[in-house]
Amino acid sequence: MKKRVLILGCGISGASLARLFKDAGHYVEIREKGKEVGGMLRDGWDKEGKCYVSWDGPHIINFSKETKKAENFLLKNTTLVPFKHKVLCLGNNSSFTYWPINLTYKSLFEFMFPKKSIFDEFVASYSKKMWKKHAKDQIERIKDRFKPKDNYNQDFFQGRNQYQPVRGYSNMVRDLIRGCHLVLNKSESLKSLKKEFDKWDYIIVTSHIDTFFGYKFGKLQFKGLDFEFKKIRSDENVLPTCVVNLNQHPKYIRVSEINQLQAKENKSKTRVLCFDYPSDKNRFYPVENENNLMKIQKYKDYSLNFPKITFCGRTANYKYKDIDDSIMDSIALFQNLTRKHKLKEFK
Ligand SMILES: Cc1cc2nc3c(=O)[nH]c(=O)nc-3n(C[C@H](O)[C@H](O)[C@H](O)COP(=O)(O)OP(=O)(O)OC[C@H]3O[C@@H](n4cnc5c(N)ncnc54)[C@H](O)[C@@H]3O)c2cc1C
Repeated sequence: MKKRVLILGCGISGASLARLFKDAGHYVEIREKGKEVGGMLRDGWDKEGKCYVSWDGPHIINFSKETKKAENFLLKNTTLVPFKHKVLCLGNNSSFTYWPINLTYKSLFEFMFPKKSIFDEFVASYSKKMWKKHAKDQIERIKDRFKPKDNYNQDFFQGRNQYQPVRGYSNMVRDLIRGCHLVLNKSESLKSLKKEFDKWDYIIVTSHIDTFFGYKFGKLQFKGLDFEFKKIRSDENVLPTCVVNLNQHPKYIRVSEINQLQAKENKSKTRVLCFDYPSDKNRFYPVENENNLMKIQKYKDYSLNFPKITFCGRTANYKYKDIDDSIMDSIALFQNLTRKHKLKEFK
């Protein structure tokens, strides 16, 4: 039976859900707070129409064997071009390496700085700059995860299939929502939706859960980034790799050359450099400490009072997710709902 599905937010999570429900024959409406689709992935031409800019920083789509289903889903619904991502990382002591560190750079580093630790050189200073008073918790959390590679590979995403969307990210999201009803500049919450509950079979929220519930249990903490763009006239690439991590810089975390990150080589003489730096202006990365994890649990328990409403995506579930995992979550949610209600399934 045809269902009526309302999706809040048109980032990759909302757009993937929209495609899945639409292909299964249901009516889908998406309401997006912003004036454009794409969420964190939003990109487009600058005011003068000369430079292509990723407004919330550079992205690279990458899939592992475990997220193959998401890769197939995206390849079926939009055009992606293979890509290879490389990152150069500048350390604190005039050292540099491809990131993540491989065996070559590990041995070079140990030769140059026998008394120093690679972790302190490349990771700790970044964590302090980014996480400030939360850095101690964060360093403890990532310490075990950080290990130099045990091979000589120089890729950032070793062994993962990497892509860029052929016409940019916002167009990729537009491909996904083809045939769905889209309403822009529409911010919704539990309060604003109450009157139309009966109209919908499913309401899926892909925006911040605390905002949706009017901060009933307080505001969840996030760390954010902000971006400064600098345009430079040059016939050649400006950076040696598309992203350079700036560990030793007091403000900036990394610099990316947007032209190098596009699917089709962008030969424009205007090179766009994007500098990111920590900022509380945006709510990007959950601060997963005891207090916040308790709060999110309260929100999740409370959401059980509203069986029609489900939460999906990075900010809705207060969990950092990459694009592939976000799509996997959307597929899993769609499958759960369709199995529960015996609807047509996704193959
Ligand atoms: C700096 C940075 C770099 C990243 N780089 C990569 C990368 O290289 N590769 C990768 O795989 N992943 C990367 N990620 C992760 C990736 O951005 C996320 O996985 C993905 O964008 C999450 O999509 P989403 O749809 O869940 O959330 P979002 O993109 O945040 O979408 C949520 C949408 O909901 C809308 N919204 C908010 N409130 C409301 C409301 N009240 N009513 C209606 N709509 C609302 C928002 O405007 C937004 O459009 C990066 C993340 C960050 C922070």
